Amino acid sequence: MEIKTFCVVGSGQMGSGIAQVAAASGLQVIMTDIKQEFIDRGLDTIRRFLSKSVEKGKFSNEEMDALLGRIRTSTDIQAASEADFVVEAATEEESVKFKIFSDLDAACPAHTILSTNTSSIPIGRIAAKTRRPDKVIGMHFMNPVPLMKLVEIIPALTTSEETLKTTWDLAVKFGKTPAKSEDYAGFIANRILMPMINEAVFCLYHGVGTREDIDTVMKLGMNHPMGPLALADLIGLDTCLAIMETLYAGFKDSKYRPCPLLRKYVEAGWLGRKSGRGFYEYA
Ligand code: NAD
Repeated sequence: MEIKTFCVVGSGQMGSGIAQVAAASGLQVIMTDIKQEFIDRGLDTIRRFLSKSVEKGKFSNEEMDALLGRIRTSTDIQAASEADFVVEAATEEESVKFKIFSDLDAACPAHTILSTNTSSIPIGRIAAKTRRPDKVIGMHFMNPVPLMKLVEIIPALTTSEETLKTTWDLAVKFGKTPAKSEDYAGFIANRILMPMINEAVFCLYHGVGTREDIDTVMKLGMNHPMGPLALADLIGLDTCLAIMETLYAGFKDSKYRPCPLLRKYVEAGWLGRKSGRGFYEYA
């Protein structure tokens, strides 16, 4: 199936990055969110990234303008009705995603593939909210989207081979390397990553180390490019907590219980970089 028009629902750190790589691949892009201010923030993020690329000589001003010219925006999810392929990248909450998928199913033509960038929610649960479960799939990008090579692709039990192939080919068109995961909570990436981050938060909670020592051990001892607490701040502590809750609900195994300190930070509004404070403080 040929994809010409692409829609991303949610203009946060992931949605704006996904819109950018889709526009960079030549597609016409529609980016939506619930408020204009969130869309403006998303467009700002894209502009800042592209301006840096121009400064580094990787991009010309004309290319930047052409790329931005391929991104339209809307605060109305009905705008997705023009799209051949949609990626939902809204807040990691099951009820939010269920509503978006039932709205997208009503708004989009029968051929449109509806994918989700969820970090952890089983795709089959989301597919069941639509009348096209064969055309629903997980397309899980990594943060920051323009820089990270991986896209995890998660077909649900009901997803057709054609939907899987179209999604796989689209990831390749975006310059990414796809990897396939079966549809269980957390898939592969967050099944492995998030318990490690949660354990780092437990180390802080139990006073095993300071935030700096915990991150230094993992950076210099394990050769990770970022420490787990700094990475949690980049991902967003609300998203980390939501993923742990989904893992815990999905497997009922106590090894997935979220650390109380993580919950406490989220309740305080300390969400990491996006709110200016998480395990570290940001200007
Ligand atoms: P974010 O908080 O930066 O952005 C979420 C955006 O969704 C916000 O702008 C919000 O206004 C918007 N939104 C909420 N409800 C909406 C609705 N009904 N319709 C349209 N937009 C709506 O979050 P994020 O980090 O971009 O995460 C988005 C999704 O991507 C989540 O499912 C998350 O699990 C997943 N994800 C995140 C990361 C990461 O590192 N942050 C990595 C991979 C996947």
